[in-house]
Amino acid sequence: MECAGRRPKHRWRLKVRAIDAAQPFDDETKLLSTLERRKTLTIGVIGFGNFGQFLTKRFVQRGHSVIATSRGDYSQVAMKMGIKFFQDADDFCEEHPDIVIVCTSILSTESTLRSFPLQRLKRNTLFCDVLSVKQFPKQLFIQLLPDNFDILCLHPMFGPDSGKDSWRELPLVFDKVRVGNDAHRNERCTSFLEIFEAEGCRMVEMSCEEHDRQAASSQFITHTVGRMLGTMELAETTISTKGFESLRCLVDNTYNDSFELYYGLFMYNKNATAELSRLEFAFAKVKSELFDRLHERIRDDIFDE
Ligand code: NAP
Repeated sequence: MECAGRRPKHRWRLKVRAIDAAQPFDDETKLLSTLERRKTLTIGVIGFGNFGQFLTKRFVQRGHSVIATSRGDYSQVAMKMGIKFFQDADDFCEEHPDIVIVCTSILSTESTLRSFPLQRLKRNTLFCDVLSVKQFPKQLFIQLLPDNFDILCLHPMFGPDSGKDSWRELPLVFDKVRVGNDAHRNERCTSFLEIFEAEGCRMVEMSCEEHDRQAASSQFITHTVGRMLGTMELAETTISTKGFESLRCLVDNTYNDSFELYYGLFMYNKNATAELSRLEFAFAKVKSELFDRLHERIRDDIFDE
């Protein structure tokens, strides 16, 4: 309070000391950045071939941090993608990725995993695979991985050709084989699946066993027919119908895959042999219908009555 007749020594001026905008030291901002950090996963790719690189590109685009290891040396490719490559599996494991995703060929997965220094990984790593067969890696993971690892089996039902531009509406089959009860583990698994969801994949939760049953009659047969037509070396014609063009498309989508991959679809899916027999039986039946009719006609010509 001012006294009458006395002038105040200081005139107090109003100064703005706080504003309403979020500041880096606010609790909300700190919480938000913790959440953002948590959503950024460190994903370790084992097997940096065709498919491993294809997935990595999207993971990086989505802002995740990726590291990779492989039998061959992919340091240059990795550098171009802006990720770290470790030819030594020990060095890879010591980076302690949150998630490890196995992208090796079906045939080499067991030997790769048996010689992998799993004990150097984080105690509760989430282990995934993208093999085109599912019961086999599920069984292998349960058998070889430490009990405290989470297991998520995936099969992106598309590849570098069909998913080149977009993953919209392309099916992603997944089976949460073993995910620990605590919130962090669930959140990590969800965050990983959300990458595929955000890319527009059709998310299909299905047991590995059911996947193999269905894949034998769809994927394996598709690959077999594609390989047969590829072996026939079908050439374009000047009067190609739409149907013929789709057959040539089928060859393009399957014949370029390694024979190793195709053999893996056969060898490591116990339903494949039965489907191959069904295909053989169907071919024999169709062929015999043609020849039976032909024989009937010829006999009619030979015998008058
Ligand atoms: P692939 O020929 O099935 O696998 C190539 C990968 O396997 C490379 O990383 C290669 O490593 C590794 N590899 C092969 N033999 C090995 C061995 N003896 N020891 C250690 N590593 C070995 O071709 P891919 O297309 O990249 O497929 C990878 C996985 O993705 C497969 O399990 C496949 O079923 C699955 N998948 C593929 C597609 C697709 O469209 N291609 C779609 C869905 C799922 P190096 O290159 O270092 O030798």
